[in-house]
Amino acid sequence: MCGIVGYIGEKQAYPILIDGLSKLEYRGYDSAGVALLDEDQLEIMKSVGRLCKLEEKIGEQVPFGTMGIGHTRWATHGRPCDMNAHPHSDCSGEFVVIHNGIIENYQALRKLLKAEGHLFRSETDTKVLAHLVEHYFCGDLKAAVLQVLEKVSGSYALVVMSERDPHRLICARKDSPLVIGLGEGENFIA
Ligand code: GLU
Repeated sequence: MCGIVGYIGEKQAYPILIDGLSKLEYRGYDSAGVALLDEDQLEIMKSVGRLCKLEEKIGEQVPFGTMGIGHTRWATHGRPCDMNAHPHSDCSGEFVVIHNGIIENYQALRKLLKAEGHLFRSETDTKVLAHLVEHYFCGDLKAAVLQVLEKVSGSYALVVMSERDPHRLICARKDSPLVIGLGEGENFIA
């Protein structure tokens, strides 16, 4: 189990993500992380430990951006540590993913991606999602995610964000809960 949050709108995303994660922390608390997109630049911050450890690490250096994603983890694959905390990115660092659930065929996918030259810097099943999005991306993030979902088996609620398609968050679910909050000039995912 874990908690995932996404925000896209006109407000600064960071406090909204932290507030959402604090409400979802009961779902997982071995590590936490956020990614924000500001002027087409992605910034990822994560820390092993409870959400307060992430906040301590960030301190006054609060990331800017009016869209972002956040995760509070309860590890299933890969020990709790900074490297395995979500959000996970691809080789280029242009795509980020948060995920609740288990990608059952991640080992086979990881092997295929490694053979194509992808470098894995984490032990989690989730990491294959970021590399698969990178592999399939041709300018349309939703199209890439749809192709990724055809390749993976298992359960998931996930959110993907990219500086290459910077005005939307793509989310998907299968056998894991996910809600979308539609607001006026802003939308939420949890
Ligand atoms: N399987 C993923 C991991 O171990 C997600 C775990 C979760 O749902 O918290 O990172």
